[in-house]
Amino acid sequence: MRNTDKVLPFYLTGEEGNTPRIRGRIARLHHASNAILSRHDYPDIVAGLCAETMALTSILASMMSFEGVFTVQAKGDGAIKTLMADMTDDGAMRCYAAFGDDDMLGDAYQGPALLPRLTGSGYMAFTVDHQVTNRRYQGIVELDGPHLGDAATAWYKNSEQLSSLVMTLAEKTDDGWVSSALMLQQIATSGGKSDDDLYTQPEEMDAASQDLWHTAMTLCSSVKPEELLDTSLPLDQLVYRLFGTIGAHSQPERDVRDQCRCSPEKVETMLDGLSSEQRDSLADENGRLVVSCEFCKTERAFDLANYTS
Ligand SMILES: [Zn+2]
Repeated sequence: MRNTDKVLPFYLTGEEGNTPRIRGRIARLHHASNAILSRHDYPDIVAGLCAETMALTSILASMMSFEGVFTVQAKGDGAIKTLMADMTDDGAMRCYAAFGDDDMLGDAYQGPALLPRLTGSGYMAFTVDHQVTNRRYQGIVELDGPHLGDAATAWYKNSEQLSSLVMTLAEKTDDGWVSSALMLQQIATSGGKSDDDLYTQPEEMDAASQDLWHTAMTLCSSVKPEELLDTSLPLDQLVYRLFGTIGAHSQPERDVRDQCRCSPEKVETMLDGLSSEQRDSLADENGRLVVSCEFCKTERAFDLANYTS
């Protein structure tokens, strides 16, 4: 049984009662993220951070209840310039990183990666593209916490005014990278909130919800990295092990897969949008325009003559 490349949604009701008071997501990635990383020759510290970013993106994207794309993008002025992953509502994931001098990257990955040392000062953008309505929501937070999850926690705090906790980690094993992310978020007990309403007004928490939140935080602090990263441990068993005493209810798992969204048509559209001078400057000595997808590394060649004739 494969226990990776899945996101498991769950909710916590507390010992008594059936009302969901905390929503949760837990993800573990292995095969999909390794397939994505295998096309890049990243140093370990960058690959590890990419693996964490993919795990984070998978849980955030799984919160969408509509057709869309969720993008996580960090930009900094340190050794790592860009860190970007996105995933569709049905689990198509991709990722890439841009970075400078290897010497500035420093040591091997000892995770969870310390962002400020790698990215310098910068920001992280969380973007939701709603496919049907073409609406885009974006939230931006400064990269001032030590870990990726801190930026996601800050974003939730800004956008939803609800207590949240997001943590990510990754590890390089003999069989490639394994990464995981865990998220808990209070559910408003008054007013209600639909899953496709990403931004809501602050809501009051009742006392039972506050108590449950504090208990859940305590239980979360007992999570061992090896449990999150153990590919032989099914996610629903882990959720029950962690939160079984406070009414844990698992929902159907979602798959995450390695799938880019680039296409020859999209590249042609991009080339059509350039000026002839821009296309000339991009062409090689044989008059070919070779365009490489930064996510999946697919190279596509076009004949400059088709454009300038
Ligand atoms: Zn691609």
